[in-house]
Amino acid sequence: MNKPRPNTTSGAASSPRIFVAGHRGMVGSAIVRQISSAAPGADLVLRTREELDLTNQDAVERFFATEEIDQVYLAAAKVGGILANDTRPAEFILQNLAIQTNVIQAAVKHGVGRLLFLGSSCIYPKLADQPIREDALLTGPLEPTNEPYAVAKIAGIKMCESCNRQYGTDYRSVMPTNLYGENDNFHPQHSHVIPGLIRRFHEAREAGDHSVTVWGTGTPRREFLHVDDLASACVHVMELPAETYRQHTQPMLSHVNVGTGEDLSIRSLAAMVAETVGFDGAIEFDASKPDGTPRKVLDVSCLHSLGWKHRISLQDGLRSTYRWFLDNQSGARGY
Ligand code: GDP
Repeated sequence: MNKPRPNTTSGAASSPRIFVAGHRGMVGSAIVRQISSAAPGADLVLRTREELDLTNQDAVERFFATEEIDQVYLAAAKVGGILANDTRPAEFILQNLAIQTNVIQAAVKHGVGRLLFLGSSCIYPKLADQPIREDALLTGPLEPTNEPYAVAKIAGIKMCESCNRQYGTDYRSVMPTNLYGENDNFHPQHSHVIPGLIRRFHEAREAGDHSVTVWGTGTPRREFLHVDDLASACVHVMELPAETYRQHTQPMLSHVNVGTGEDLSIRSLAAMVAETVGFDGAIEFDASKPDGTPRKVLDVSCLHSLGWKHRISLQDGLRSTYRWFLDNQSGARGY
């Protein structure tokens, strides 16, 4: 491998060349917005899937060999809601392992000093103590509905840790809680709960339906973070001095939880979405659909000690996401 190039952050002689992998997805596009608004002249390197297939090892290797990348935000991933994960497990484990192996391997080989790997809170055991601390990783069995995806994400964390130990890189990982916001996937079956419900309640209101059915029992509890808050946390964590990051993440391995630290039941969430959309009919629950893990709220004290806290309340975030949905409905993913 080439010697990792030092991280050239703001104030340095030249600005870093930053590759945002997955820049057309919900998370990657929010990271691009965040970097561009903080530093309008940032040297961003972006490739569509047609231009660079991240599951193709040779193509990724050629890209890093020629582009002289300094920083990577690894936000490219195959993602989906509880049903997609449950019914298409092979795609979730194979594509995610391929993308992250190719990118991390080529980044190491071509001297990328700093990389931020985007994981997920589903890496933690199904029955982890709540709120979930970073050191709960690998202490118990995973939630079966998304185990293949979680195993890929755990491997990504371990790839970063291992490269740091063996090659002296500074690769960091963030574990976001459930995300939502603009550019989300609004597919009726394969989306996550917030875009799924926004669409269902909206269509019910338009059609004048008297009731809407929500999956599961309504009792599971989830924590939600607006994707613009996540992007702000990603840039914050990426830019921290190496010593600060190490001090706060050791001995808790190398990853940091990103969330609000507050959760609510799916029943309460459904009521909030109904109100946001203006649907005033009945809300019913279909217990034949999977609930998934009973509770998933993150301990975000490490992130707070690193100097970052969320800003967007769930109510404001739902409102802006619904506005975005109305403005972009025909072009939204999942339509
Ligand atoms: P999870 O955290 O991986 O389970 O992510 P999801 O966003 O897919 O699901 C969160 C919870 O919302 C689960 O308990 C689902 O059963 C429930 N849920 C209720 N209605 C829906 C829906 O329309 N779509 C999805 N994806 N989940 C729903």
